[in-house]
Parts: sequence; C-alpha cells; structure tokens
Amino acid sequence: MNKLDKLYAGKAKSVFATDDDRYLVLEFRDDTSAFDGKKVEKLARKGMINNIFNAFIMQKLERAGISTHFERLLSAHESLVKKLDMMPVECVVRNIAAGSICRRLGVPEGIDLNPPTFELFLKNDELGDPMINESHIASFGWGEPGHIARARELSFAVNEVLKPLFLDAGILLVDYKLEFGLFDGEVVLGDEFSPDGCRLWDQETREKLDKDRFRKELGNVIESYELVGRRLGIDFESTVAAIAVS
Ligand code: ADP
Ligand code: UDP
Repeated sequence: MNKLDKLYAGKAKSVFATDDDRYLVLEFRDDTSAFDGKKVEKLARKGMINNIFNAFIMQKLERAGISTHFERLLSAHESLVKKLDMMPVECVVRNIAAGSICRRLGVPEGIDLNPPTFELFLKNDELGDPMINESHIASFGWGEPGHIARARELSFAVNEVLKPLFLDAGILLVDYKLEFGLFDGEVVLGDEFSPDGCRLWDQETREKLDKDRFRKELGNVIESYELVGRRLGIDFESTVAAIAVS
C-alpha cells in the first residue's frame, strides 16, 4: 500500500490517497485545536497517542460487530482506513451532562442522563458546528433519513461497548462525538475515537482526563490521554515497536 498525495489537512489529521482508491491513510498530527479552531497548539506525542488509542478502540468496536473504517496501523502516527463518503454531521451521545448541553439547557454539569441523549451537529467550523435535527439533514441533503437512523443506532451501540470498557478501567464515559460515512452503501464509523473527541472522568475523583484539560488550561493534557490508555491496557511503546518490525 503506497501513500500518495495529501488530499486534505484538517485541524488534527491529514488525509492521504493510496494506490487503492478505496483506502486512505490518516495521519494523526500533534496539532490540537478547540473552540472550532480558535485555540490551536502543538502537543508533543499527541499524534502517536491518539493513533494508537483510536486503533485500540476501533478494534474493540469491530469485534463487537460495529463496522468501522479502521484497517490497520501503518506507523506510530498513521492508520490505513476505508475511504468513506462522509456525512457532514457530528453525532454526540451523552451519559452525563457537560459542555454545550449545560450552556444550552441550563443544566448543571455532572447530572446523569438516563436514557443517554443523542444530538446532531453540522460539521461547519465557520458556523460554530450548529445543532441540527434529522429534518434539516433531509431537507438540505446532508444525509438520507435511513442513513441517519442507522448512525443513531450505531452511536448507541458504541455506548454499550465503550461505557463498560471505560468503567472497568475506573473511568466514566461522559460523552463522545462520532462521524459516519458510507462504504459500499453501508453506514460505517469513521474519523477517530480518542480523548480529543470525548469526555472521560476518573470514576472516583471525577478528574477530567480528556480534551477539556486543553480547553480549560488544566495542564497535563497528553499525560492524561496516556494514563487513560494505560488504564485500558494499551501498551503504546510495544504497539509502536510491533508496527516497526511488521
Ligand atoms: P477536521 O476536518 O474537523 O478539522 P480532522 O483534522 O480530524 O478534522 O481531519 C480529518 C478529516 O478526515 C475529517 O474531515 C473527517 O471527516 C475525515 N475523515 C475521517 N475518516 C475518514 C474516512 N474514513 N474517509 C474519508 N474521510 C474521513
Ligand atoms: N466534540 C468534538 N468535536 C466537536 C464538538 C464536540 O469532538 O467539534 C466532542 C467533545 O469533545 C465532547 C462532545 O463532542 O466530548 C460534546 O461536545 P459539546 O457539544 O459539549 O461541545 P463543547 O462544549 O465540548 O464544545
């Protein structure tokens, strides 16, 4: 598999074509952004940590029967993925209130959401990723109703797999953002699952171990991502060493 031209450079990842037009290379960079790209910094080792973290989670989801774009790790900061026709929509599931839902609905941070909520946002930084609903998606042609229904079903299925996985490591899965796309007509999970796109709190202390450390200038951002990974059983060094020899 040869890596060819760079097709797109996003805020945290770059996307490359390969010599097979059904596959892409995702490069996880050290760039870190928040507030729709208004706060940007380079955090050493973030690309590697998120790439290996994402691979671990995507493989867990695949094993649980959830189709993902992940194929394999190519290097410390690159993964081979299926090329999806992405829907420009962010699917957010929340188990505990935090972030924008508290501002929007005036609810206190930390209350349990039972059943969990499902929200849709348009992927558009200039507009600040506005909240939308299924009707907007249908009217503006951002996705077919059946595909959004499937994305919602898969978003909740992800919760069933990941909530207990994190809890076993003493971590609360507060909320997370997913992006889906189509591959051979099937709705498939794309993009990444890492502490950049979810909220993770220590179960005992409720300490934030995710990108809120960057948003709120709490320090030890990557150290916390790595700590979460290690508590899940990820051995970053051995994984990188294994790719290097394969
Ligand atoms: P952003 O575009 O929000 O700045 P990133 O820096 O993470 O985000 O860039 C990665 C881009 O690649 C995103 O736009 C994402 O939707 C897209 N993407 C992720 N996975 C796939 C895939 N399997 N196929 C096609 N595009 C993908
Ligand atoms: N999220 C994300 N990308 C976005 C917006 C949100 O990954 O462009 C994640 C965020 O990290 C959190 C969840 O989605 O885990 C819900 O985010 P929220 O709506 O609370 O927005 P925030 O206040 O974090 O901007």
